[in-house]
Amino acid sequence: MKTATSAQFIQLQPQLIDAVAEPVDEGEVLRYLGYPIGRTPNARIQEMLRLWIAEAQQRSRPQAAFVILPVLEKGNNRIRAQFAGGEVEFKGAIGQFLSVSELLIVFVATAGPNVETLASELMASGEELAAMIVNAVGAERAEAAEAAVIQRVHDQLRTIDYAPTLPYSPGYCGMAITEQQKLFQVFEGRTAGVTLTPSCLMQPIKSVSGLIGLAPAEVVEADISPCDRCEHRNCNMRR
Ligand code: SF4
Repeated sequence: MKTATSAQFIQLQPQLIDAVAEPVDEGEVLRYLGYPIGRTPNARIQEMLRLWIAEAQQRSRPQAAFVILPVLEKGNNRIRAQFAGGEVEFKGAIGQFLSVSELLIVFVATAGPNVETLASELMASGEELAAMIVNAVGAERAEAAEAAVIQRVHDQLRTIDYAPTLPYSPGYCGMAITEQQKLFQVFEGRTAGVTLTPSCLMQPIKSVSGLIGLAPAEVVEADISPCDRCEHRNCNMRR
């Protein structure tokens, strides 16, 4: 049941985050590049990282849009929420990821288009490692914009001690990529510059979208991570 206090945090109209203050996290860039945790790149790679992280950070424009919707109904495989234009029902492994949710953050976050343009130019000129670093920075910047959404909402909900669940995105862990169409529908066009192709891929490519539940912190903490119940032992997205 949604409490009276949580209801005041419902935001049906899209909220925009148009900048991310946090600098690029080099450890995350290395993770996207596939470096094992704790392994230090050699001096040549470190110099390339320094150069191309700085350039990609300067070209990136991390942004995000989000809404906070009231959950109307949920089951093992679906969650229904209200948005400004009516009702939306997402399908997927809801029972694993969002079963405790009283409110639902729907977000889209992006690194902006210029990072992947730079990566393409580098790739075309044969600078493959530089292109990989720039692409990794793009992924990190999109995730940083998503983190900024969670931080903004966390700050807003501090007074009622609500916490976010893990994010759950179309195309992952049992949610069809076509759920993107519903996800984008709730923004009514205000998606921080991100668009969907007919095959439901996001443009710019370095973008992330998804659902995050909100519930009392003690309920979220007591909930078992969906990854702990999952049989995909070699999944590199395990959290
Ligand atoms: S282990 Fe991987 S596939 Fe399984 S729930 Fe976690 S992220 Fe999804």
